[in-house]
Amino acid sequence: MAVPGSAKMMVGIEVHVQLSCASKLFCGCPVAAKGAEPNSATCPTCLGMPGAKPVLNRAAVEHAILVSLALNCRLNRTFMFSRKTYFYPDLAKNYQITQYEVPVGEAGFLEVDGRKIRVRRVHLEEDPAALVHESGASSSAYSLVDYNRSGIPLVEIVTEPDMGSPAEARRFLDSLLTMLNYLGVYRHGESVLKADCNISVEGGERVEVKNVTGFRAVEDALASEFARQHAMVEAGAKVVRETRGFDAETSSTYSMRTKETEDDYGYIADSDLVPTEVDDAWLASIRSRLPELAQEKASRFMAQYGLKEYDAKVLASDKGLAAIFEECASIDIAIASRIVSRELMGILNYNRLSLAGTGIKAAGIAGLVSLIKAGKVSERNAKESLIKYAIEGVEPAGFLSGSGMLIDSGESDIEAAVREAVAENRQAFEDFRGGNSRSMNFIIGMVMRKLKGKADARRVQKVLEGLK
Ligand SMILES: [Zn+2]
Repeated sequence: MAVPGSAKMMVGIEVHVQLSCASKLFCGCPVAAKGAEPNSATCPTCLGMPGAKPVLNRAAVEHAILVSLALNCRLNRTFMFSRKTYFYPDLAKNYQITQYEVPVGEAGFLEVDGRKIRVRRVHLEEDPAALVHESGASSSAYSLVDYNRSGIPLVEIVTEPDMGSPAEARRFLDSLLTMLNYLGVYRHGESVLKADCNISVEGGERVEVKNVTGFRAVEDALASEFARQHAMVEAGAKVVRETRGFDAETSSTYSMRTKETEDDYGYIADSDLVPTEVDDAWLASIRSRLPELAQEKASRFMAQYGLKEYDAKVLASDKGLAAIFEECASIDIAIASRIVSRELMGILNYNRLSLAGTGIKAAGIAGLVSLIKAGKVSERNAKESLIKYAIEGVEPAGFLSGSGMLIDSGESDIEAAVREAVAENRQAFEDFRGGNSRSMNFIIGMVMRKLKGKADARRVQKVLEGLK
C-alpha cells in the first residue's frame, strides 16, 4: 500500500522473540516442538498450581544478555522480575512474570542503513499459553488451551519511535532477525516473530497495533494505519489514543479498545524470585560468546577481500553463506563471491529454501569453485550442478564428472567442431564476419552443442575468431 507523501510518521516496535532454550523460563519442562501433543510439556509451575515456585533458567538469561550486548545496550548487572496482572485463559496464574522496573538491558541501538534506531529496553518474560480455535477464531464455539507454550522464554525488544516509514520498520526487523540468527538465540523455524507497533502522525495521538505476526504483516499494518491516521488529520478529525488489531486478509486495522497504560496492569515485584546478579566472571564468559556480527563481517569482507559493499553485505546477511564464501575465497575470491552471493543465493531464494534446509556444505561449493577456476566447467553446467546440489543434495564435482559434463575437449576437438559448424552455417558465419555478434553467439551455441557443453565457450570464440 502506498504511503501518502508529506506527513511525518513515527513508528516504534516491540518485538517478541522466542528463545532457543531447551527448557522453559521458570521450570524444567522441555520447550516442546511445534505439533507436540497438547499439554504434554507442563508441570505445576507452568500450570500455575498453588505453591509451585519458579526457578530462573540460566541459559535464557545468557541469551537475553547476548541480545542486549549485540544491541549496544547498557546492562543492568542486578535485575528483577515483576508480575503483570491480568485475567485471561492463556495465563494460568492470572499474572505473567516479566520485567518492568529493571530489565536486562536498556538504552541501546541497532544501526540500519547507517541510521541508529534506538532500543529502549530488552527484557525477559514468559510466553503465555496458546489458545486454539479448531475452526477459526470467529466460528469456533469454544476455545482450547495448550499450556505447552506457557512459560517458554521470550525476549521483548522495545524501540524508541525512531522509524519514519513502514519500509524502514521492515528493514529494522530484517536486520534484527539477521542479528538474532548470528547469535543463535532465536527459535528459528519453530516460531514466528510477533510485534506490537506504535504509530503516530504529527498532530495525532499514539495508536498501538497489537499482535502483528510476521514482518510482511508489520509493513502492511503500518502502511494501512498510517493511511487511516493521515486521512483523519487531513479531514480535521482527531486521532485518539487506542489499541487496534490487524486483519491480514483485508490488510486493515480495527479498533479493539481505547488504550490502557502500562500502569493499569498493576505491576508488582515477584516475591518468589530473588534479584539476579551478573558478576564479572559470568559476564565475561557470555561476552566471549558474542560472534562477529553481520555489519562487522561486511566491513571486514570489504577490507580483507576487496569486495564491493553490495556483495559484502549480501554475503554477510547470512551467517552460513558467509562461512562458505570464506572457505572458498582461498581458491578464488571473485569466483567464490559470484557463486555464493549471486548464483547460490539466487537459487535458494527462487526455490524458497534456507541454507540450513539443504545438504550444502562448504567443501562441495569449494569443489565447484576449483573446477570453474581450472576452466573445467561451463557456466551453464556450473549453475545446473548448483541447482542439483541445493535441491537434491548431490555434490557438484561428483555430479559433473558422473554425467560427463566436465570440459575435456582438447584444442583439436574444438577446432573440428568449429569448422563443422561454420560449414553448416555459412550465412551465419558471413554475418559474424560482418560484425554481427548475435551470429557469433549462434555459431558458438552450435559448437557447444556438438561438444555436449564440454568446452569453455571463451576458447571456442577464440578459435572462431581465428577463422575470420
Ligand atoms: Zn513446567
